[in-house]
Amino acid sequence: MKRRRFCETLAGTGFLLGTGAGATLNRVWAFQNTANLSHVEARYYKKHPDREIECLLCPRICKLGDKERGYCGVRQNDGGTYYTLVYGKACSANIDPIEKKPFFHFLPGTDAFSIATAGCNVNCKFCQNWQISQVRAEQVPHFDLPPVEVAAAAERTGCRSVAYTYTEPTVFFEYMYDSAVEARRKGLKNCVVTAGHIQPEPLQDLLKVVDAVKIDLKAFRQDFYKEYVRGELQPVLESIRMVSRSKVWLEIVYLVIPTLNDAEQDIRSMCRWMAKEIGRDIPLHFTRFQPMYLVKNLPPTPISTLESLRDIAIQEEMHYVYVGNVPGHSAENTYCPRCRSTVIERFGMQVKAVAMNKGACGSCQYPIPGIWA
Ligand code: SF4
Repeated sequence: MKRRRFCETLAGTGFLLGTGAGATLNRVWAFQNTANLSHVEARYYKKHPDREIECLLCPRICKLGDKERGYCGVRQNDGGTYYTLVYGKACSANIDPIEKKPFFHFLPGTDAFSIATAGCNVNCKFCQNWQISQVRAEQVPHFDLPPVEVAAAAERTGCRSVAYTYTEPTVFFEYMYDSAVEARRKGLKNCVVTAGHIQPEPLQDLLKVVDAVKIDLKAFRQDFYKEYVRGELQPVLESIRMVSRSKVWLEIVYLVIPTLNDAEQDIRSMCRWMAKEIGRDIPLHFTRFQPMYLVKNLPPTPISTLESLRDIAIQEEMHYVYVGNVPGHSAENTYCPRCRSTVIERFGMQVKAVAMNKGACGSCQYPIPGIWA
């Protein structure tokens, strides 16, 4: 089913659609009462005396009294039991090209049924989706879309995967996990778009039911994380390590913000860390910043900056380095590291041509890592 028909189908069922990453919700038909939150017991928390709880899902480890909510705004202590308020409560559902996430080595040219709920456990000052991430659950229109219906809608619309994206899926962990189980039952794959700010135990469990993870590494400096993300770098690096050591496919995105995280020495250090800890085959995307949310005083990233950072990564012998958000740039393509042939040609989010044979370069047969079928 093509996107237009899918939109018409959802319109008929009263779904609300978002336009996806970088955009606000754009169409509202009939949606549920916005106070209609879920009351499903959360996973990964500890009970303490006096009805207090400690959330163990992400590195914030929120400690909360009765009736208090975590930093992410979508999990609440109710009488000493912790609940997720957004289970099955999607605020966005779209069909996106997988290249939009971006995944470049994971089912290229296919669509992903993409969902989000409200909430986030970090607070990036340059967030592209702040209208749905930096709000409490009841502050954004949402609709009922339980896991079984996520999988059914993905199958019905011809998507090859379900993507958990737009906001931070860690905060809707239970919904994501159960949807991934349902999607797998139907033979679909699952991919996660995350900042990687999650504790090791839930991540380990998640890796059993998903196929690909894209982690936004927002800088290679703790001071940047503290000031612009309100989070911690080390747990993100630990998540990257953990995914790379699993069977789940990993790609890294680095949004380059002029003057804030574009120092060449930092990029060199990051590439050396990657080469040592996760290997040179993990795709690395340098994407272009656009002024957004609380960082409107800086210009879009100069293309020359993206190109010189890419050159550094290539000097450091990273094999697959891309430039993102610059449609038509030659660094959107995948090149064979051995013979330099173009194995996947792209324009923006579209795949124009694939010259691969069973996961290998069509010219020299060098294996190109990824999930291709
Ligand atoms: S997931 Fe939410 S409630 Fe739990 S520790 Fe993180 S921010 Fe706090």
